[in-house]
Amino acid sequence: MSETTTRTGGCLCRAVRYRAEGKPLWVVHCHCVDCRRAAGAAFATWVGYRNSQVTFESEAKRQRYDSSPGVVRTFCAVCGTPISFEGDKFPGELHLMAGTLDEPSSVTPTHHVWTSEAVPWALHADGLKRRLGGPGSKYVTT
Ligand SMILES: [Zn+2]
Ligand SMILES: [Zn+2]
Repeated sequence: MSETTTRTGGCLCRAVRYRAEGKPLWVVHCHCVDCRRAAGAAFATWVGYRNSQVTFESEAKRQRYDSSPGVVRTFCAVCGTPISFEGDKFPGELHLMAGTLDEPSSVTPTHHVWTSEAVPWALHADGLKRRLGGPGSKYVTT
């Protein structure tokens, strides 16, 4: 995987399409309550990029939702697929839902965050490190 890797992705109905250039900053599984609900799934897997790395090639139907103060999540207004996260705690970054990548196997999650809020059946012995909260919080052993 080189620095010049370009990844593409988008929503289920293809109304929203993006291109992400270069190496992601990080890839994590987030178990926080908000991500769980926003994803409608056991947890959300995020691929972190700098804003400048991501271009939306089709986004007329990309709708924003301010899920909490300083946090903007976007989704497709047609098919409902969650697409992105931007937060004041991550200045200059844009996080994409890994499941929206055309080739999700091209990224590899390195750890779990917010495991203090995880549902028990969503955590498996995958050998990855686990943080009880967000970035900088304590690691627990699996
Ligand atoms: Zn869509
Ligand atoms: Zn989260």
